[in-house]
Amino acid sequence: MTKFVYMFNEGNGKKKELLGGKGANLAEMTKIGLPVPYGFTVTTEACHDYYKIGKAISVDIEFQILEALSSLEEATDKTLGDPLNPLLVSVRSGAVHSMPGMMDTVLNLGMNDETVEGLAELTLNPRFAYDSYRRFIQMFSDVVLKIDSFYFEQCVEEMRAAKGYQSDPEMTAADWQEIIIRYKEIVKKHAKRLFPQDPKEQLFLAISAVFDSWHNQRAIVYRRLNQIPENLGTAVTIQSMVFGNMGPDSGTGVAFTRNPATGEAKLYGEYLINAQGEDVVAGIRTPQPIATLQKEMPDVYEQFAHTCELLEKHYRDMQDIEFTVERGSLYILQTRTGKRTAEAAIRIAVELVEEGMITKEEALLRVDPDQLNQLLHRRIDDTSDKQQLAKGLPASPGAATGLVVFDADVAERLANDHQSVILVRPETTPDDIHGMIASQATVTSRGGMTSHAAVVARGMGKACICGCDSLTIDLIQKQFKVGETVVREGDIITVDGSTGEIFLGEIAMIEPKLSEEFRQLLLWADEKRTLGVRANADNPTDAKKAMEFGAEGIGLCRTEHMFMDATRIPIVQEMIMAETFDERSIALSKLLPMQQEDFEGIFEVMNGNPVTIRLLDPPLHEFLPDKEELLIDITKLRMKDGDSEELKEKEQLLRKVRQLHEFNPMLGHRGCRLGMIFPEIYVMQVKAIFHAIARSMEKDIPVKPEIMIPLVGHVNELKHMRQLVVDAELEVMEETGQVVDYVIGTMVEVPRAALTADEIAEEADFFSFGTNDLTQTTFGYSRDDAEGKFLQAYIETKVLPNNPFATLDVDGVGKLIETGVKLGRNTKPNLKTGICGEHGGEKKSIQFCHEVGLDYVSCSPYRVPLARLAAAQATIRAGQKETKQPQTQC
Ligand code: ADP
Ligand code: MG
Ligand code: MG
Repeated sequence: MTKFVYMFNEGNGKKKELLGGKGANLAEMTKIGLPVPYGFTVTTEACHDYYKIGKAISVDIEFQILEALSSLEEATDKTLGDPLNPLLVSVRSGAVHSMPGMMDTVLNLGMNDETVEGLAELTLNPRFAYDSYRRFIQMFSDVVLKIDSFYFEQCVEEMRAAKGYQSDPEMTAADWQEIIIRYKEIVKKHAKRLFPQDPKEQLFLAISAVFDSWHNQRAIVYRRLNQIPENLGTAVTIQSMVFGNMGPDSGTGVAFTRNPATGEAKLYGEYLINAQGEDVVAGIRTPQPIATLQKEMPDVYEQFAHTCELLEKHYRDMQDIEFTVERGSLYILQTRTGKRTAEAAIRIAVELVEEGMITKEEALLRVDPDQLNQLLHRRIDDTSDKQQLAKGLPASPGAATGLVVFDADVAERLANDHQSVILVRPETTPDDIHGMIASQATVTSRGGMTSHAAVVARGMGKACICGCDSLTIDLIQKQFKVGETVVREGDIITVDGSTGEIFLGEIAMIEPKLSEEFRQLLLWADEKRTLGVRANADNPTDAKKAMEFGAEGIGLCRTEHMFMDATRIPIVQEMIMAETFDERSIALSKLLPMQQEDFEGIFEVMNGNPVTIRLLDPPLHEFLPDKEELLIDITKLRMKDGDSEELKEKEQLLRKVRQLHEFNPMLGHRGCRLGMIFPEIYVMQVKAIFHAIARSMEKDIPVKPEIMIPLVGHVNELKHMRQLVVDAELEVMEETGQVVDYVIGTMVEVPRAALTADEIAEEADFFSFGTNDLTQTTFGYSRDDAEGKFLQAYIETKVLPNNPFATLDVDGVGKLIETGVKLGRNTKPNLKTGICGEHGGEKKSIQFCHEVGLDYVSCSPYRVPLARLAAAQATIRAGQKETKQPQTQC
């Protein structure tokens, strides 16, 4: 017989798949002797069974639950439904991966018209008993009977207004009794049934509702966002209640063992006196910082701080802990590994190593490379002219500028129109998630650092400011006021989630810097990794950035961007328009010194690190004006004066544009095909490179050039191009007298090159897999057309697992890379190989590059830190499987 139910003392922390994260950790904490209210967990397998038999709890599972209930009753010495001594429980959801607030929980289950009286007598606190009952009716109605909480809230609001109260604590026992009568009427009206009085019926309905909540909309969105599989299901934990709402010596709270925004090793959290469960996270009342508890309840605080330390040591990571104090006694209700910003993740990982709690390898594996992007974002320039509009809590770091919106749907719509927006709400709920995803930042006027908005924003790595109570938000008028200032929907504001500041308008930003801990972690990564990391950089500024971030060379220097400069484009056009070789040579000789200067700048920055320079790649028509625009100009000129010089020039340009027109530019006259037909262009570039090298050497700047021929498909192309480079180099050498060490290689970016890599390697000193084009040519997709027209649909309908332009298609494109490397190294065992597509900066693709034995990845400068970390993780993971041969140097 399958065991579907585990008492807390039967499970442990390792059984997450079966008991869910929450259930497993409650069992673990019970095992190590912490004050956890007793209970049991119904497994995720029971959830699968529930769905398998058509959303029903089987007789077997029902029996096991009732058995566990008896054990719980025995252990607590209370009985579910006993009017004299009632057991009350919470019914809590708990998936394998924590999904805070995404699924449903019911508190105070077991309350009915009889037990409420018993509880009132037993506790000598009728107000508490009726408050608990009405909370139960409201929560149960929301989660199980699907009645909108709005009706209940409205009912309380009416009562408050009628009695002239400011807030709930002023409500008396009699008031709550009255509310309960009205609540039951709401249930009757909306659920078309009486509120269930039988506690066992309540229990089974609640368990089913928790299973059902696995498929509610916000849980589905959350799973998609966090790539959590759909088929895992949730466990359900039934736990005896403790009460934080029994008076001024009770309370409830949430705390992190370290600061989840900055990583600082200091307890960080919030609590509310005389409150229950969701009150803290819901952001309805702004809670007290945890440090205040030290003054208010010194003994409880001591015990709590000690427990936090113990849990952190036990789990060897920062914990996110939920607790309740009932009449001066502390209870721990949940612990989990805390979600954190990238900044905090890095600091915590590094400090845990320094504290001797974890190894360097563990530290490296704990930081998600994708998170690093957050740290490489720009920040508000402190020296810029700005006036603070308001200040809230710095809930999630990062700076953003955008249009103010007050509604998640509007945020999503504007973001789809490529607008940058900032979502401003009194507080957020799980139903606002899509709006938070669409926004650059979220601002709330209520709620603390552990409110829903704060937790979700930190998880997404987006800026967030919470509890900004100087904002008076009017959702109907779509505006907020700060003093006299009114900010309307569509107005621009700038927010800084690291300081909590809000500014009117757009504010200047500055470039990011790496923190000490970040540098430390990356140095550890460098010790571990065997894969080299280079950057794609076309100019000295990018090259400098790349070096700052730790690149070991340039893996792709595109030369066409150097042609696009406004002062150069007329000369480039002159070169293209040339009818004869001599005419073209004149234009090229003007371009040569300009190119030479570009290369000198880059060599100087790179100071002896390798620089892979790719010769001209795009088709020539990319340097000419657009045909439509030319036609318009010509028509206008004809109307003015049918015979002007300008008109003649434009007509000539148009002829050239027509002549160069291609049906399929992606597959047209580009790459080395240009060099084959117009060798003089490549000769000019090669000469510029070698002159630049000679000049650098004269200045004692070391240079390590690698000349790369694009788009080779047949070995003969490379053979010709190689000869061209060698001849040009000899010519320059005769002029300058400098002997230069250099290599010639090719981009592998069409399938034929990969398939005949053994032949091509005869002529190549290195291969660089250009996976942007290789993906286009392998799938036969033109990227711009695919992304605009059908790729999204392909991904949504799961025809493709993901966008192959973002994550390397390992099965297809990857197979070509593997083949290319293998065949190439058959010919030349020391053939150097790298990747220079956008995939070079994506963690899964980097893992693959490591596995197939590439020597390096090359990515945009801002992705270099990510690549260093991902490369180290790949090495560590491979080492966990087997001990691998070290690779040749980058
Ligand atoms: P979530 O997964 O959304 O965090 P939980 O199951 O943790 O939901 O429940 C939410 C809150 O309800 C908890 O933080 C806690 O304050 C309260 N709660 C849950 N179970 C109990 C209990 N047995 N006694 C008292 N409060 C509880
Ligand atoms: Mg919780
Ligand atoms: Mg290409």
